[in-house]
Amino acid sequence: MHLKNKTVIVTGGGRGIGKALAIAFAAEGARLVVADLNSDEARSTAEHIDEVGVTCIGIGCDVTNESDIVNLVAETEERFGPIDLFCSNAGIFIGEPDHSASASNEDWQASWNVHVMAHVYAARAVLPGMIERGSGYLVQMASAAGLLSQIGGATYSTTKHAAVGFAESLSITHGDDGIKVSVICPQYVATPMLGYEEGNAKIETHGVLSAEQVASAVMKGIDAEEFLILPHPEVADFIQFKSGNYDRWLGGMRKLRRNILSKLGSTRLTDMHKLV
Ligand code: NAD
Repeated sequence: MHLKNKTVIVTGGGRGIGKALAIAFAAEGARLVVADLNSDEARSTAEHIDEVGVTCIGIGCDVTNESDIVNLVAETEERFGPIDLFCSNAGIFIGEPDHSASASNEDWQASWNVHVMAHVYAARAVLPGMIERGSGYLVQMASAAGLLSQIGGATYSTTKHAAVGFAESLSITHGDDGIKVSVICPQYVATPMLGYEEGNAKIETHGVLSAEQVASAVMKGIDAEEFLILPHPEVADFIQFKSGNYDRWLGGMRKLRRNILSKLGSTRLTDMHKLV
């Protein structure tokens, strides 16, 4: 999809990858609404984009609350007309205090709500109009953890796998209605989620991308209308390896976990940047 003059919503756009995506969408000429749980940060991203002469509004929105999504869509349509692309990017990482099932039910539910139900609510709000118009684009942030699993993140990996599953269903069911779907599956990205400072564009750590590099890969993926967007291209090889020999892949992941534990003493995501 070419983004010039298209109406785009980005969730989780207050900081991190979502902010970089919003800036990249604006640079492509889209009319933009930035939504975030943190309404001040949503507005600050929108002001930043407005300053370079692109119309953008920032709205406070909890994507796990369906009525917030309905209002977000209604406000966007009132201001800019029909939504061409909805980018569900908001996410959270909740590790586990002990074994793989030790996160509380509340933490499991919170991860499910933001990584899966938020995508369902967005699709429910915009799909009927898109189907009627015969065009529309749903871009959904998952993670490489949705294909390969994150060590020390059972709530995260499980719900990101479900996000990939929902994106597949949308694409299979609605491709013939003119609906495009992309699912973004990055590995490590230097954002506050991983303990990096916001706006840390210069990343020296091998395998860690900046949010801006991810946004640039996403713009290319959307331009090519690719389903699976892999900002770290090596993920394609890892998936092939996993599907070729699941047990060998699991053995490799266990070895990686032992290495991380011996170096860091934990598998906390926010400690991963200390690995190099
Ligand atoms: P981040 O924590 O820096 O930013 C996440 C943003 O989402 C924040 O602005 C936060 O306020 C917002 N948010 C959280 N819950 C929300 C809710 N209920 N409603 C609205 N907004 C909400 O994280 P990030 O690294 O920029 O992550 C963005 C997305 O990318 C997430 O879905 C994350 O899982 C995914 N991802 C991140 C990485 C990484 O290494 N950073 C890798 C793969 C995928």
